Amino acid sequence: MTRRYSIVRLLRESVRGNRGWEPAWRDAEPRRSYDVVVVGGGGHGLATAYYLAKVHGVRNVAVLEKGWIGSGNVGRNTTIIRSNYLLPGNVPFYEWSMKLWEGLEQDLNYNAMVSQRGVLNLLHSDAQRDAAVRRGNAMRLAGIDSELLDVAAVRRLLPMADFDNARFPIRGGLLQPRGGTVRHDAVAWGYARGADQLGVDIVQNCEVVGFRQEGGAITGVETTRGFIGTRRVGLACAGNSSRVVAMAGLRLPIESHVLQAFVSEGLKPLIPCVVTFGAGHFYVSQSDKGGLVFGGDIDGYNSYAQRGNLPTVEDVCEGGIALLPSLGRVRMLRSWGGIMDMSMDGSPIIDRTAVTGLYLNAGWCYGGFKATPASGWCFAHLLATDSSHEVSAAYRLDRFAAGRVIDEKGQGAHPNRH
Ligand SMILES: Cc1cc2nc3c(=O)[nH]c(=O)nc-3n(C[C@H](O)[C@H](O)[C@H](O)COP(=O)(O)OP(=O)(O)OC[C@H]3O[C@@H](n4cnc5c(N)ncnc54)[C@H](O)[C@@H]3O)c2cc1C
Repeated sequence: MTRRYSIVRLLRESVRGNRGWEPAWRDAEPRRSYDVVVVGGGGHGLATAYYLAKVHGVRNVAVLEKGWIGSGNVGRNTTIIRSNYLLPGNVPFYEWSMKLWEGLEQDLNYNAMVSQRGVLNLLHSDAQRDAAVRRGNAMRLAGIDSELLDVAAVRRLLPMADFDNARFPIRGGLLQPRGGTVRHDAVAWGYARGADQLGVDIVQNCEVVGFRQEGGAITGVETTRGFIGTRRVGLACAGNSSRVVAMAGLRLPIESHVLQAFVSEGLKPLIPCVVTFGAGHFYVSQSDKGGLVFGGDIDGYNSYAQRGNLPTVEDVCEGGIALLPSLGRVRMLRSWGGIMDMSMDGSPIIDRTAVTGLYLNAGWCYGGFKATPASGWCFAHLLATDSSHEVSAAYRLDRFAAGRVIDEKGQGAHPNRH
């Protein structure tokens, strides 16, 4: 059992040579059976286990992770959180997630560096302004903060942007002041520590390679460390969702694509909030160390490789330079890729499957980091009660068959455009 972190402990350890810190969670050996097995030790799987134990009192739980905690998208994303959505299916869910972020560090007793520095979507045409007004009003009606900024207000925030670019002039912006960034891997570590303290077994290097079923119901999972019996399995495998459910004989309306992220050399503070470029696909924030953290479109082909290709690097950098030409000589330090579970309408799935006892949390595309707390909260509710939580009720699988898609971007069934 790890002890509470506090300023008193920090001071005491600093004068004792930091010899009193214990590992943040146990490296558990898998047991023969559990009440619930969560597959995938990313943010969503760990948050699910934490809320199962904390909110529902279900503590005989294992999280099985094929690699190590934080090796998936939870440790690879560009750390942006926001709840600036338009559609009724999305608005309450993402706002609930934002509220959970706001209390997360106190709840977990862990510094996840939640920084509500604002998220600014830039507008480059009258049509984009109209769309932003509509979205901003929908947010306000739901009690969510949003501010429409004119050009002068955007200039004050981002003076070095190219406002008078002949093709992409900046005409204003939609700001969500409560949006911002959170240190991504600290989220995984904080949830892992919190779940472990409540008795959850976090089992790393344990890949699920098959499901055992009897009469259409789950009886356990086959893993690289042996069979584990359970009647309830929650899948939170992000980019690997299609491959994992295929082992249970199911097919998903999901394609896997790579998304890349990039970090520049450290610079003096120049970007005070998260900024998205509305005339292309480019988003950027500045880390506390000074590096610009940025990204853009997914690589356009299906892949399970955690690395991307050079044309997309070029495309993302072109977007950045169109917006901020003065950064043309900044050096890029690092880039990496993660596998996105792109759903056909760009919205997630939190639902039962056709196999009794097998539950699904998937389809987060490249917006699932901000959803981590609410996703865990709602998936835990589904696993514990066998019913959808009210804020995730729209994320059912049958929406694709029934035509109730939640297409926030209005791009149709084109995963590469969501
Ligand atoms: C480059 C990049 C930038 C992004 N930027 C943002 C952003 O700014 N804001 C935002 O909201 N979202 C962003 N996202 C999306 C977000 O990171 C994901 O949607 C979210 O992290 C997915 O949930 P997760 O954390 O549970 O995934 P993961 O961390 O990928 O967890 C899934 C885990 O399942 C494990 N697994 C898979 N198969 C098996 C198996 N058979 N057995 C056991 N374990 C298995 C994997 O190893 C993995 O650790 C970004 C993603 C990427 C890659």
